Amino acid sequence: MNETQSAPAPANFQLRCEFCLERVAVPAGVRELPHPCAGCGRPIRIDRPRKVAAEDFEASVIGSPLPVIVDFFADWCGPCKWLTPTLDEVAGAAAGRLLVAKVDVDQAPELAERYRIGSVPTVLLIRGGEEIERSIGVEPERVRAMAGLPSD
Ligand SMILES: [Zn+2]
Repeated sequence: MNETQSAPAPANFQLRCEFCLERVAVPAGVRELPHPCAGCGRPIRIDRPRKVAAEDFEASVIGSPLPVIVDFFADWCGPCKWLTPTLDEVAGAAAGRLLVAKVDVDQAPELAERYRIGSVPTVLLIRGGEEIERSIGVEPERVRAMAGLPSD
């Protein structure tokens, strides 16, 4: 029996390299960092929030093999910045277990409409392409709980 092809294809995050803008596959569930970009060799960091553009949402979020915390934010939104430390912490603590994505509602109005984002910040937990939970406003403890982090 020939089993040279027996290893299952690894589940990958499809992420856009922030340097060369190549879409690259990053192995999900792997904690070791950084993952070099296949295009330019520079690091793809999964331990901090990743900006995801509308055109990449299907591949990067809906098709993600692991849960994704999606922060819908706007540049002009002061309260959105209050969530930044929490999202940074979650991305670092849960790297390899889930991904933290950021969606700018001004650059992705169709996504904001699709998910009925009435105000920012709104944070969604998406697993297997489905919305599991959402947090509206600045709720750091809720966001931590959505990511499975212990509360303080
Ligand atoms: Zn690159």
